[in-house]
Amino acid sequence: MAVSEFDLIKTYFNKPGLIPTKEQSVKIPLGIGDDCALIELPPGKLLAISMDTLVADVHFPAKADSALIAQRALAVNLSDLAAMGAEPLAFTLALSLPKADESWLQAFSLGLETLVQTYHCPLIGGDITKGPLSITIQVHGLLNKGEVMTRSGAKPGDLVYVSGELGAAGLAVSLMNNGMLLDKPDTQELHTAYFQPVPRINLGQSCAAIASAAIDISDGLMADLGHIAKQSGVGIELNAKAIPIARAVKKFMSTMGDKSQGLNLALTAGDEYELALIVAEDQQEALQQTAADLNVPLTLIGHVVKGTRVKCLNNDGQEIEVKTSGYQHF
Ligand code: ADP
Ligand code: MG
Repeated sequence: MAVSEFDLIKTYFNKPGLIPTKEQSVKIPLGIGDDCALIELPPGKLLAISMDTLVADVHFPAKADSALIAQRALAVNLSDLAAMGAEPLAFTLALSLPKADESWLQAFSLGLETLVQTYHCPLIGGDITKGPLSITIQVHGLLNKGEVMTRSGAKPGDLVYVSGELGAAGLAVSLMNNGMLLDKPDTQELHTAYFQPVPRINLGQSCAAIASAAIDISDGLMADLGHIAKQSGVGIELNAKAIPIARAVKKFMSTMGDKSQGLNLALTAGDEYELALIVAEDQQEALQQTAADLNVPLTLIGHVVKGTRVKCLNNDGQEIEVKTSGYQHF
């Protein structure tokens, strides 16, 4: 017998592990089940809101494990909260499904649960429709008033840092586009980088009062720093030597015999979800200490200058030519 939309919601979404706990119900007095969810905003806080849609075969392979699709969908949304310095509060989920495949939904729901528990970000509502596979998530987070990292706060003289290492998710995408499955042990790191990006929530929150600007790397390092440059009215110079290239990328590139491609990937590949952080010089130590306390790798990669462009310079101060700059849908 066909299952109803209400049965699907009850079984896979309105369930312990995904919905707010008793403690969370102070801030979230009403979750799934009514026409709206209700959030009680604590005094002195701002509500941060962001939304991302993932479309099958555009943002993930339609045949991928639905637990991984769920994790990626929530992780990329949480990453936007991280980039503002917000603490996750709750999310809503709009699903478009070609059919009610219960084993797909079961794994999807479990995939969500992993991140809901890790980041204390419960599900408070959503929608289900029949249509081509697509997942829209809207996350809500809390910020202290006056402690917000935007794209517009960078000033000449500030320093540019990036968390983690770059290029692995981008390499995964280009290999998958060439029909590779990434299911072998030697491509596991690439697979994980793409499907299970780690949103830098703790780092973002801890830097909110320290950094002057921030962005998460979804379009590519140079392209995303370009957003900061534009919105702050500055230029940015990166030091090619300093760019942290992921180990898996270096390994892959050395087997291909082309090392320059590693740098190019790290500069341009999207889907990384690391944070680029801009700090004033006198906040450098505070930033480095914060990252060290959280055990998050953080690398100084450049500085903010007067100007309008983002450039990557080699040791001689010459600009390196960078191919493509980030993914664009249209
Ligand atoms: P309405 O018709 O008023 O929009 P729905 O029948 O679509 O309400 O949904 C009933 C309840 O279930 C609402 O509280 C809605 O937020 C929730 N809901 C629907 N789909 C989902 C989903 N995919 N995940 C979580 N909650 C959902
Ligand atoms: Mg509805």
